[in-house]
Amino acid sequence: MKYALVTGGSRGIGKAVCVQLAELGHNILINYNSNEAAAEEVKKIVEEKGVKSQLLKFDVSDRKATNSVMTDWFTSNPDDQLEVLVNNAGIRKDNLLLWMEDEQWDDVINISLGGFYNVTKVAIGEMIKNKGGRIVNIVSLSGIKGMPGQTNYSAAKAAVIGATKALAQEVGRRKITVNAVAPGFIKTDMTEDIDEKQFKGLIPLKRFGTAEEVAQLVGFLASPNSSYITGEVISINGGLY
Ligand code: NAP
Repeated sequence: MKYALVTGGSRGIGKAVCVQLAELGHNILINYNSNEAAAEEVKKIVEEKGVKSQLLKFDVSDRKATNSVMTDWFTSNPDDQLEVLVNNAGIRKDNLLLWMEDEQWDDVINISLGGFYNVTKVAIGEMIKNKGGRIVNIVSLSGIKGMPGQTNYSAAKAAVIGATKALAQEVGRRKITVNAVAPGFIKTDMTEDIDEKQFKGLIPLKRFGTAEEVAQLVGFLASPNSSYITGEVISINGGLY
């Protein structure tokens, strides 16, 4: 059986990606950190689409836990393969750099950038063994243009963009593609404190995007249809730059 692993698959963009990949026929490994009820709900929705699904609970910033849960899964499922990895888990802890708490800096960097490293480090060996794979990293417009109040988040996302481009060159010959998706404002729990009415005027399409719209793009990048695209950062932001 071939599986897609989605980190932070319990809510928001990750949840929509799990559902979209299930619709495309992928079996799904749903990673989450704390919200078990939400993760169980995603598992139910995914299984209703006729594919298999398992929950993998770990904090992507915890290298030991990530390594142990993922390695255990590969050991206990020797006939299964990891075909797709979506590095989606991420958080925001906004503040001006002047007022930034060390913990705000560390948490955002450790989850977005550290999480990318911890998960991909285990997954890439499996994909090389399988002679192919798809990696999609969810970054952000903030990592492209930089956003005031988000030096931590912008730095983490920009770093993952650099890692995407470097890793794509390392593993291209192994038939593994590595791309990044950079959303603008998307309606999820992460943006519930941001007033759409106040910001939509800045966006050429005059609205926030939906998690499902982002998931369509991820589904394409995870599919055989995107076989000659690698090392790219694809924006999905309603025209906002
Ligand atoms: P969200 O609604 O807040 O969901 C975050 C997800 O990440 C949840 O499933 C959460 O799991 C999981 N998560 C958080 N910390 C984790 C950790 N340490 N280990 C494992 N899982 C963890 O966020 P979202 O808006 O869907 O964002 C998803 C990704 O898109 C993030 O990387 C974010 O930076 C990026 N993004 C979002 C927007 C936007 O406007 N929403 C724009 C650009 C980029 P639990 O349910 O267990 O807490």
